[in-house]
Amino acid sequence: MKAIRVHEYGGPEVLSYEDVPVPEPGPGQARVRLAASGVNFIDVYQRTGVYPMDLPFTAGQEGAGEVEAVGEGVEEISPGDFVAFAGVPGAYAEYIVAPVERLVLFNVTYVEARMAAAVMLQGMTAHYLTHSTFPIQEGQSVLVHAAAGGVGLLLCQLAKMRGASVIGTAGTEEKAKLAKGAGADEVILYTEQDFVEETKRITGGEGVHVVYDSVGKDTFDGGLDSLRPRGYMVLFGGSSGQVPPIDLQILNQKGSLFVTRPKLADYTLTREELLWRAESLFAWIGQNNLDVRIGGAYKLSEADGAHRDLEGRKTTGKLILVP
Ligand code: NDP
Repeated sequence: MKAIRVHEYGGPEVLSYEDVPVPEPGPGQARVRLAASGVNFIDVYQRTGVYPMDLPFTAGQEGAGEVEAVGEGVEEISPGDFVAFAGVPGAYAEYIVAPVERLVLFNVTYVEARMAAAVMLQGMTAHYLTHSTFPIQEGQSVLVHAAAGGVGLLLCQLAKMRGASVIGTAGTEEKAKLAKGAGADEVILYTEQDFVEETKRITGGEGVHVVYDSVGKDTFDGGLDSLRPRGYMVLFGGSSGQVPPIDLQILNQKGSLFVTRPKLADYTLTREELLWRAESLFAWIGQNNLDVRIGGAYKLSEADGAHRDLEGRKTTGKLILVP
């Protein structure tokens, strides 16, 4: 089978399209023939070594497809079932072997396999951020950075579902329109406007209850200034670079602020929690209550191009790879 292997850290050119053996499922595992694999920013961090990996490795960690074979002792799923997953290494490939406890069944009549692959990681992220990290209450105001991105468009929709007033930021007019389409009440072009001043103006000088920041280095300090007293800074990524260490005294000076740096793995620790998040997303998609925008579908062999576009701020919504 074909897979994208990484032998050394580096730019998109280290993503190597190679032949590798089809993996066999062991006890408690299933082999899935992938209909699509999701591309995520974490794949960039792993490729560059920002998140260290044991080399060589197969890139990717999200996908969906049909179960082809199961290992010993597996009774929950059978060949022919459709399943999706996030957080399982080795997803930039034609087949993956995954632990059954990380797989979520879905019904292809209601949710296309590509859609399932597209929503797992970014959708569950938007879910935990809005429902668990800072469970949004009706009427609260939120600032979502990179609102036209993969997580961003889903965050806007889920924050609206919870009754928030949503301010988004985006790099271009085209991205701003997409964010508005996803429910953002206001969108700030943070490449041209001062987002702190704009956020203060929009909230009548008060600031927002929560900032969801995936951009990191370039936006973190401004985000703290955009919060109201006792507001929450939820830093969940570093698309512009990682945030350097901060003096905790700043949180006192700026209004008794809270800061957290969450990750999906810690919000899908139990099978129950994983199913709550994933099945909620599938139900919303089936009911047409959640729009998952696939902004780009690339061939598996063109994974390097997907990474270039993602890092180059050229993309909107979700990117997927198809075998
Ligand atoms: P996006 O689709 O959001 O792509 C990144 C976007 O960030 C760009 O399109 C761009 O939007 C914005 N951006 C701002 N500055 C830069 C820069 N210097 N370089 C590149 N992009 C920049 O990606 P994802 O939805 O896949 O991921 C978003 C973030 O969320 C990532 O940082 C990722 O690591 C994080 N994440 C964290 C998770 C967690 O559990 N902690 C889980 C999933 C994702 P614009 O042009 O509008 O500024």
